[in-house]
This record gives sequence, C-alpha cells and structure tokens, in this order.
Amino acid sequence: MKNAKNQKPAKVKIQSGGSGTATGSSSVPSVPQPSTGGVSNLFVQSGRVHSKISPSRLKDLEMCPRHLPEERGEVHPITAEGTLCHKAKETNDLSGLNAEQRHWVEMCIAFEAQIRKGYWKRGEKPQVLTEVKLDILDGIFGYADTIFVDPEGTTADLIDYKFGFQLQEDAETNPAAQAYALGMFNRWLWVDQIWVSYLYPRLEQVSQALFHRRQMNEFELRIRTTAARVNDPHSPPTPNTDVCLYCANKGSCPALHAQVLPIAKRYAEGHDEPIPVVPTSVLSSARSSGRS
Ligand code: SF4
Repeated sequence: MKNAKNQKPAKVKIQSGGSGTATGSSSVPSVPQPSTGGVSNLFVQSGRVHSKISPSRLKDLEMCPRHLPEERGEVHPITAEGTLCHKAKETNDLSGLNAEQRHWVEMCIAFEAQIRKGYWKRGEKPQVLTEVKLDILDGIFGYADTIFVDPEGTTADLIDYKFGFQLQEDAETNPAAQAYALGMFNRWLWVDQIWVSYLYPRLEQVSQALFHRRQMNEFELRIRTTAARVNDPHSPPTPNTDVCLYCANKGSCPALHAQVLPIAKRYAEGHDEPIPVVPTSVLSSARSSGRS
C-alpha cells in the first residue's frame, strides 16, 4: 500500500523535508513584557482571543524576549487577502475570490484531498478539524488551520496555510510547528507521529516535517525557555534586523539604537567627555577688558 505522503502534490515544490525518512514528501531594557499566565496573557484580535505568547509569536520572542508586535491602524492588503482565503477554505465557499485567490484555495483543497487519500489507503477514516484551538502549555494556545486525526491511527497531520509572500522558518525547526505538535500530542494520546505541512499557495511551495512523540520534552523545553526569558525582567533585548523591523519598541530600545544608529552612538559617546570648566577669574578679566 503506497503512502499518500510520498506523493507530491501538483505544482507544489518542497521547501524542506521532515525529520523522518519521508523527507520531502507531499502530505502530508525597559520594554513591555507579556506574561504566560492568567487573564493578562490574553488579547483580542480580529474578534478572536489570543494568548500573548502564542505559537505564531514564539519565533520573534526567541529572537528577542522584549519584542512587542507593532499595532497597525490598517490591515495590510496581503494580510486581508490571507484572511479572505482562509475563510473561503474553511467554508468551502470560493465565490468571493478572484481567479488568483481561487487558484490558491483550490491548491489547499487539493492538498488536503491528497492527504485524505493517504488515510483511506491505510483503511483509516480521519476526522478533519479546522480552526482548532490547541492548548500548548501554561495558558499558551493557538489555532491550527486543519488537523487530520484518526480515532485509531497513530499518525496525524497538521496543515497550516500561509498566503503571504514570505517563507517562514522551515517546518522542521519552526517553533510554532513544534508548539502545535506538542498541543496535538497532549490532546490525542494515541498519536505517535505528526506530519506538519506549511503550504504556501502563492509561492507554490510546501515545508514539511515529521515529528515524533519522543520529541515532546525537547519542544516543551524550547517553549518554556522562551517564556522564561520573556517573563524575566532582566532578559536583555537582542537586536536583529528581521525582528526589530516589526517591533513597537524601536523608538525606546537602547540595544537597537546602539546597533543601528552609529551617528547617534558616536555623538552620545562624545558627550561623555567633560566640558572644560572656565575659571570665574578668567571670565571676570575678559569682561573688564571688553572681550565679554
Ligand atoms: S527593537 Fe529589537 S532589540 Fe529592541 S525590543 Fe524590539 S526586537 Fe528587541
């Protein structure tokens, strides 16, 4: 019986492979601080409650524990387009899409159909769950786009759709992917391995990884370490172009200023030199001689 995970979906290129043998298969200093517990760990965006340390924020917070996402007045057109496509995919209603968007969503639907076929070939009838809230740990949670899980099978799938132009961290090392897998292993205790697929319809690429239950401690340690750094007020900001570019602390972050504002730094260092003090007697003598 051929595993559908070894069949490459049409027009989709592999960005990177999973950790298993099926690599490349197609299936499937003084800045605000988030906390990991309690009500303060929540915020509302687009009508949905999120945890401040969410799977999607883990990468930024790992890069800099003081990172704070910028709030933009208007939704970026690419983000709005992604939301539209996600909704169309979720409801299977493509009527509000243009031809290009329709093509992307159809690619997602075809990808899922291929994964479903793999389960059927193994004699399994998976549940397909969309927009699933997954509890990760200590109040950290996130929403997974699509999950395939069979009541009796030991392999599950997690699919995340990325409708933007940017490729993200490979699924293999992506902290969000690992967080979602951790949430799935905690929820479905009989699942022993999870295929994670990040599908980029606009780029016609997919990044995949196969995670195993034995990796749970490794994933948990990574998330807890990131959370501990975020919650430690002594954790210094760690500037990096990719993460600082979209940080709301740009205006007040000394670590960033020291790194990217060389002129300001040079002048600030110059101001450390003491201004010579002119003795009063010299000033008096200058005034009396008419040179004041
Ligand atoms: S500006 Fe950069 S270094 Fe400073 S808090 Fe933000 S992400 Fe961290």
